[in-house]
Amino acid sequence: MKIIIIGGVAGGASAAARLRRLDETAEITMYERGEYISFANCGLPYHIGGVITDKASLLVQTVENMTARFNMGIKTMHEVIDIDAPARTIDVKNLVTGEIFKDNYDFLILSPGASPVKPPIPGLDGPDVFTLRNIPDMEKIIASVNNKAKTAVVIGGGFIGVETAENLIEKGLEVTLVEMQDQVLKFLDPDIAAFAHIEMKSRGINLILSDRVSEIKRQSGRKSSLILGSGREIEADMIILAIGVIPETGLAKKAGLKIGPSGAIQVDSAMRTSDEFIYAVGDACETVNFVTGEKTKIPLAGPANRQARIAANNICGLKSEYKNTQGTSIVKVFDMACASTGANSELLTKLKIPFKTVTIHSGSHAGYYPGAYIIHLKLIFAPADGKILGAQAAGYDGVDKRIDVLAAAIRHGAAIYDLEDYELSYAPPYGSAKDPVNVAGFVAVNANSGFAPVIDIFELDSYLKKGALLLDVRNDAEITGGKIADAIHIPLHSLRKSLAELPKDKIIVTYCKVGLRGYIAQRILMQNGFNAVNLTGGYESYNAFFNQNKYGAVPKLNKSADDTQTKTDNPSSASVIKVNACGLQCPGPLLKLKEALNHAADNDIIEIESSDQSFYNDVQAFAGSTGNKIIGIEKGKVIKAKILKCPAGYLNSASTQNLPSKSDQATLVVFSDDFDKAMATCIIANGALAMGKKVSLFFTFWGINILRKTHPVRTEKTFIEKMFGIMMPRGVSSLTLSKMNMLGMGTQMIKGLMKKYNVEPLDKLLKSIVDNGGKLVVCKMSMELMGIKKEELIDGVIEGGVASYLSDAEKGNINLFI
Ligand code: FAD
Repeated sequence: MKIIIIGGVAGGASAAARLRRLDETAEITMYERGEYISFANCGLPYHIGGVITDKASLLVQTVENMTARFNMGIKTMHEVIDIDAPARTIDVKNLVTGEIFKDNYDFLILSPGASPVKPPIPGLDGPDVFTLRNIPDMEKIIASVNNKAKTAVVIGGGFIGVETAENLIEKGLEVTLVEMQDQVLKFLDPDIAAFAHIEMKSRGINLILSDRVSEIKRQSGRKSSLILGSGREIEADMIILAIGVIPETGLAKKAGLKIGPSGAIQVDSAMRTSDEFIYAVGDACETVNFVTGEKTKIPLAGPANRQARIAANNICGLKSEYKNTQGTSIVKVFDMACASTGANSELLTKLKIPFKTVTIHSGSHAGYYPGAYIIHLKLIFAPADGKILGAQAAGYDGVDKRIDVLAAAIRHGAAIYDLEDYELSYAPPYGSAKDPVNVAGFVAVNANSGFAPVIDIFELDSYLKKGALLLDVRNDAEITGGKIADAIHIPLHSLRKSLAELPKDKIIVTYCKVGLRGYIAQRILMQNGFNAVNLTGGYESYNAFFNQNKYGAVPKLNKSADDTQTKTDNPSSASVIKVNACGLQCPGPLLKLKEALNHAADNDIIEIESSDQSFYNDVQAFAGSTGNKIIGIEKGKVIKAKILKCPAGYLNSASTQNLPSKSDQATLVVFSDDFDKAMATCIIANGALAMGKKVSLFFTFWGINILRKTHPVRTEKTFIEKMFGIMMPRGVSSLTLSKMNMLGMGTQMIKGLMKKYNVEPLDKLLKSIVDNGGKLVVCKMSMELMGIKKEELIDGVIEGGVASYLSDAEKGNINLFI
């Protein structure tokens, strides 16, 4: 038997190996038009980023090894250019010599894959535009990066675009990703994709959604300009086109093979095409969606490999059936993993298949064991019988495990009721006694049985429009971080006492941070005769989706220089001490860090993680003032810092030469919001700056009012916060004198005199402090207490904690409290 395979990578190479294992006598020839066979396409982005350092490790098999092991003919740089199906022959072109010859087969396997989509965008054919499918593509991108490219635009937010963008960031480029849809990673629902958006933006990707590249303009000697549909223009040294792939069906069409409704080669469950001697596998062939039954294309490596095995089995007489594709997939988005299996909400809506969703935010393992991260997990199921239709997750740990369990559940036709019974491995470092998969099952069963009905964040608006009452049951402190507009707030522990205030003729939508307390509140209400539904996913989902635009890039410390330093500073005998300060508010993480430093030996490294966002500034200030050294810091949902405990006397070493001398620093604590005291502060600060001092102003309590913008800014606030906001002065123009104000007349008189004597107004004085390098640090804790949000403050203000102030104060000999 003579078998020819077209395409020598995922599907082709797998089919060849399986054929040989089944039939030692078969004559097998594999034609590959590229230079390499069996390479790891999925690893290409990571070699660009330098994560996979050795190019050779991308080559799963070489021609020599495969020929020797499997005794087959492998012809690289040979393109099959025609198939004569009735004659069972092919025409092959040797791409090195140009020679064209014929070959014949008993069976033919097509595995030509899919090629990148290239839309007719003017300018897309330039030398700075790259696609990524194979090793030569990857090498061109690496060469461009090495040729001092500084800026890149990635067009398309599928998994190849997202992975490539991340890896270009790793190489130090400024990266913009333009996606014409309103989200990246379309296999995810928008509320799960929102977590990916936040991660990408916080790691420095300039993410542009709902916009498309309409033209690329070039002028000699200048960067390319990408013109977007919105009219926006972005410059780039290099452009990566990653808007999707299209099955390579050219040869199949020439051979007269049937093409399915999806545009890929039609095959039956044996992977046989419309010609009984020709099989097709991989990205080029059509598949059936396991959940919905529709004909579709799902270009993934797992299906390609399994289909190849099935085609080989059938050719060799082993009856074998491909049982459709679920689309189980996972992608790394910096430290986050985003994964999905089965159908998503968009597809089910399109096909009018009824579905219901629940979302949970559960720890990747027991919360009391260090290093647990939240998994945002969404389960999609059929309301009629509870059958699981899809699942998606995003998170920093344990996402793969949960999606794989749910993928297996879908494959076996499981329903939400089965998830309640799944017995999954558990010890504190790995899971919880109630695994997130079980919890998703509990929530879904509660919701579907009517015991605790849920709505999702996209249904909320219509409920509110119909007159539902939104009830936030989180505690007071949580509300300071934001809440859903129009919600009334009754903390869970006060709910039973407040039942009389709630209406029985309206639907009450309960919510908390993640859904659990909302559920408890809902049950209290339901058992007291109220009609209540719980907002699945709670404020965590709502905030991620509706407030995702508030998240932006986070500045990075220069890591590489610090890392080099560390190698000499930190002998291999020194220990790494891990501290988990997640969940603690300022100054809790600093106290934990201090405790760890007290116990550490010189040159030990403390690796600390904190979920308190002000820790980012605080830890740097703290390390500086305690004579220790930050050797790495990352800001994501969790702030991770590495601090080197420096030997005594470190502060005198060369690396601190840039620290200001004692007399170079002035620090002012601004506690008051009186006009005259604010003036005095700004005048002293500007004077100190003029004398060449470094100036740091720490605004706390009423002093923060000085920094408020004078116009109202829309933010989500509780009733009390709103009242506070109305009663307190809003910015410099509403401050009054501490004495002789005389219903505002005194303040106006002083302002008149200031004008007369050419004293700059207060707003200009504040601006000049920032312009001249002074720091306006606002106390994060006071902001929270007073319900003031960052967006209400003037530009140039830095959030910080007490450590920010103390570290600056220690450096100087001018330290005033106003
Ligand atoms: P391919 O592996 O693309 O092989 C097709 C081969 O056929 C090509 O080498 C081509 O040169 C050759 N060929 C085509 N026409 C001819 C001809 N006429 N004559 C001779 N040779 C021909 N999937 C995942 O599941 N997870 C991932 O993380 C993932 N990451 C990816 C990252 C990148 C950058 C890329 C490009 C793909 C990734 N994929 C991933 C997709 C996965 O690689 C494909 O689904 C899989 O390789 C498909 O296998 P295939 O055999 O159909 O096609």
